[in-house]
Amino acid sequence: MSNGKLPIVSMEDEELFPKDSVLNVPQALPPFSFALFEQLYNITDENKTIWWSRLIISVRGYVANYFKNEEQKLFLNDDAFILLHKIFVEKTEPSSAIQFVEALYNLFCIPYLADGFIYKDQLRLSTNIQLNDEDVSIINVDDTRFRSGEIVFGKFNETNSAIASYQKDGYLVFMKILIILLNTFAFQLKEGKEKKKGIRFDIDNEWQPDDRVVLYQQFFTGNRTWLLYDFDRYIINFHRPNGVCVIFGRSYVEKKKRNNCHLCEACGMLEQQPFQFPIFRNIKFCTENCLSNLLEERNITL
Ligand SMILES: [Zn+2]
Repeated sequence: MSNGKLPIVSMEDEELFPKDSVLNVPQALPPFSFALFEQLYNITDENKTIWWSRLIISVRGYVANYFKNEEQKLFLNDDAFILLHKIFVEKTEPSSAIQFVEALYNLFCIPYLADGFIYKDQLRLSTNIQLNDEDVSIINVDDTRFRSGEIVFGKFNETNSAIASYQKDGYLVFMKILIILLNTFAFQLKEGKEKKKGIRFDIDNEWQPDDRVVLYQQFFTGNRTWLLYDFDRYIINFHRPNGVCVIFGRSYVEKKKRNNCHLCEACGMLEQQPFQFPIFRNIKFCTENCLSNLLEERNITL
């Protein structure tokens, strides 16, 4: 059997990123093969870092556009997507991607037990209890036998439980999209050919996401600003100095540069209009913080 190819991901693909007026969050995750996920995750492909990074960026942008008026939810989901990036791309967390995906499945394989989401291992809970509202109240939520909630949301306590209720939609949508991609991957393995034609997410310079990859604010006609949140800053910094190319694609950034927009020399942030960033001794910087980092790095004293 071939090693398989990373599936094509496009925000224009309405199966992955439907243009619904309200975010369509699945009630539960369908069964999928952990072994197949492992195979996809372990593909030998020099571009897989950027593939996973762009997948997480796209899904985060997609959900964030639905939460843009709910600040708390937006911030907490950014934390969730930063964690996904650490696990899938950076591998800096105690849990592996495989453990994390299994934990998410265990948490979300059957619809929420009740409105007050209890982040326990539903798979194991379901064998012990009858799933109706009265029975939920008898579950001992301090039961530490169940690890899945801890892997995804941290130790069970009131704060983490509240955070989980904000983050669950982001995780459910991420998993829904990942499972569709796993099905595509399985199809490709079986048929030996790609399911869909398209610009390759991971390698093509012409790749460009649509507007839903980040959050914009529109002031006047034609005056649109990219709203930078924790997640955007995190990604820009992680892929420094190519962060905006990872988010928007190389050809988009080249076009901006031809239109006289420049990058911050410290973090790689892109100007949204010409002359937006100040210059100090020929150094272009986006924030005071970036300037002081640069001065320190280059040993410039004032
Ligand atoms: Zn900067």
